[in-house]
Amino acid sequence: MRFRALLGSFREYAWEPSDAEIAASVGLGVCNIRRFDLNTSPYRPIHWLRRLSSQLDGVAVNRYPDTSYLSLRRGLSEYLGVGEECFVISNGGDEAFDIISKVFLEAGSEVVVSSPSYSMFRIVSELMGAKVVFVQRKEDFADDVDGLIGAVNDRTRLIFLCNPNNPTGNAVEKSDLLRILNECDVGVVVDEAYQEYGSESFVELTERYSNLMVVRTFSKAFGLAGARLGYIVACEETVQMLNKVRPPNSVDVITLKLAELALADVEWVRLKVRDTLAERDRLISEMSKLGGVKVYPTLANFFLVEFLKREREKVYQELLKRGFVLRRLDDPILRRCLRISVGLPEDNDALLDALREIL
Ligand code: PMP
Repeated sequence: MRFRALLGSFREYAWEPSDAEIAASVGLGVCNIRRFDLNTSPYRPIHWLRRLSSQLDGVAVNRYPDTSYLSLRRGLSEYLGVGEECFVISNGGDEAFDIISKVFLEAGSEVVVSSPSYSMFRIVSELMGAKVVFVQRKEDFADDVDGLIGAVNDRTRLIFLCNPNNPTGNAVEKSDLLRILNECDVGVVVDEAYQEYGSESFVELTERYSNLMVVRTFSKAFGLAGARLGYIVACEETVQMLNKVRPPNSVDVITLKLAELALADVEWVRLKVRDTLAERDRLISEMSKLGGVKVYPTLANFFLVEFLKREREKVYQELLKRGFVLRRLDDPILRRCLRISVGLPEDNDALLDALREIL
């Protein structure tokens, strides 16, 4: 078959296995699998679902959504304090990266990624035929701004940053971002998927910098990963270009209704963020007492643990046998680390018990 030649050597997204697959592979029941590898919220907004279900009769599923998503953009405008004309709505943050890649990239383009970071930056870029230049983060995982700026050349179209960064948990420094925005005449994408957990947002800088695009999502602090809703914040001119390639109907009418209910109740989101951060700090403090581990500071709902005395793979497998799924990262500088997403208190306790036993 005449598939695209670049797919021959293309490294695709490593799909997360389902609970059922993991359970089968370790011989446990599905209910014994506890996921600490997905970076999603453990809190399900059941009260929004109840409200949604009482309003479902009125949802026009026989019609397409309002393609301009005006009502959602108005809600977001109120939530973030930037104009409704500054939003592009997408089917999750991942579709936002896809849209951006189609607007900026073609064969021969280059993209600069502060690395390690979220794998979709590389994936959407390579799929457009672009070459990705990885600029290694500094020892404390801060962005190497000189390195990033130095990697930009005539072919560069985009720079990808992540605030806070997945998987390292640290923020993009505002002064670093301003240097990049001022010195580089290319698109700068800041992924703020986890921003609600406490890092500074750079959304308002889109009013001053036409080359800045901030990508955000309802998948993390809002607890709506399964509903698939994300958005880009950018200046009006960039929004117009993004809208040229955006699929017209990728967000469904039920998700739009759910988002309306969510934005009317951001206080609940803030409450659950506070609960998550308290749990995260407790988990980090207990883990630090284990000995032989280094826990990295974080601003997100996940953190990195480095195993100083034990082989990471052994710890990973021992946890897996007991139903605890953590995330291994492939980057060489993270080869001794596992990434842990904060769960519900009882699950975090169970993980701590398992780690005490294993270590
Ligand atoms: N950015 C980062 C850093 C992420 O970890 C994720 C979730 N995997 C996303 C963006 C995209 O999430 P979604 O498509 O669910 O909005």
